[in-house]
Amino acid sequence: MTNTLRQITESIAGFDSESLRVEIAQRAITQFIKPVNQSERVPLKQALGRTLASDITAPINVPSYDNSAMDGYAFRGADLTQGEVILKIIGKAFAGHPYHQQVQAGECVRIMTGAPIPPGCDTVIPQELVTEANLQSITIAANAIQTGSNLRRAGEDLLAGATVLHQGRLLTPSDLGVLASLGIAELAVMRKLRVAFFSTGDELRSIGQPLDHGCVYDSNRYTLQAMLDRAGFEAIDLGVVRDDPVALEKTLREACKQADAVITTGGVSAGDADHTRAMMSRLGEVLFWKIAMRPGRPMAFGQLAVDGKTGLFFGLPGNPVAVMATFYFFARDALFRLQGTTTAPTPTIQAVSTDIIKKRPGRTEYQRGVLTFDMHGSARVRLTGAQGSGILSSMSEANCMVVLAHDEADIQAGQSVSAIPFAGLL
Ligand code: AMP
Ligand code: MG
Repeated sequence: MTNTLRQITESIAGFDSESLRVEIAQRAITQFIKPVNQSERVPLKQALGRTLASDITAPINVPSYDNSAMDGYAFRGADLTQGEVILKIIGKAFAGHPYHQQVQAGECVRIMTGAPIPPGCDTVIPQELVTEANLQSITIAANAIQTGSNLRRAGEDLLAGATVLHQGRLLTPSDLGVLASLGIAELAVMRKLRVAFFSTGDELRSIGQPLDHGCVYDSNRYTLQAMLDRAGFEAIDLGVVRDDPVALEKTLREACKQADAVITTGGVSAGDADHTRAMMSRLGEVLFWKIAMRPGRPMAFGQLAVDGKTGLFFGLPGNPVAVMATFYFFARDALFRLQGTTTAPTPTIQAVSTDIIKKRPGRTEYQRGVLTFDMHGSARVRLTGAQGSGILSSMSEANCMVVLAHDEADIQAGQSVSAIPFAGLL
């Protein structure tokens, strides 16, 4: 049986929609979401950033045969003695060109990296460790090498039958290589989540329109589109909608029909919320929360239902930085969960604050920071100047979010704070 959002929130201790702790709101959202659970098959080359729909089991060993890790000579370790050893070269093994005959005592095979270990051999000596070599024989000094050295064993990378990648994994470049090494040409991934979004506000103008007095260009749709693209969702841009319940309802219905999730920006602050609340109550179950966070206090969350089709709903605040903060700290994980993607917790770095930071206990604050490392590799962070939630350029200037936890108070210069870097390697 599925619970309503209200039933879920009422079952969570400490849930207070008028002053909602970030972690509690996140928990309520997580508990509410049921993954869409639809998959499709894609060719390997198109699988980057897609979510695995089922576990991948290795059909073969990788590598599939014992092979040489070095350019050198393969031989029988039993030939090694206390003193110098001379071995006769009886053939060559190159990558893709195995040496097939049995190697006997006193013999060796010239071998290149990646070539299969010839039958009978169990050791490779790198060419640079050989004392002397000519076309007929090599000389190995006493204690130059141990039996079993420089082999890459069959299955040492991936063992046939083992689970290699798990369902829910967001596929990375190395994953694609791993799948290729197993000979997997196509695979089942979760269908891309469809996310419709639009901006609300009478003051908004779209690029290309004249900027009338008292108006601003709609930037939220561009940030949102980009954040959705980065996460690999299918973004559906429904434009700008006026602050008018009739227009809003029409677009929400349209959005719900087309998408798995709907994101709006603007129009959820106290005054606006009143007239949207009544309209949304006809469209499903949407709750209006005041999150104890900055930026991004007001947020609506719930589920729309139009003609039997449901869609997860996020009504984000209008301020451009608040949009990014609420997207990253609420919507992004929720959308991944809805898509069936398993996400890892966002890595956090402890960094020394070079600034005094004013912080009121009782809310989580996300401040824009610039993270650097000193000559000893220690992390330090400074804030980008003004932290107003309308100052979007501060997000471009920043390379991390400084996260000040709910109960934290003012930060002194030299004190350690948590920072979430924007960018990683992959
Ligand atoms: P609201 O939450 O609708 O009261 O909007 C809060 C502030 O964010 C106002 O200053 C709006 O002009 C601004 N804002 C709302 N939506 C957008 C948008 N799409 N692009 C840029 N600024 C916006
Ligand atoms: Mg507005």
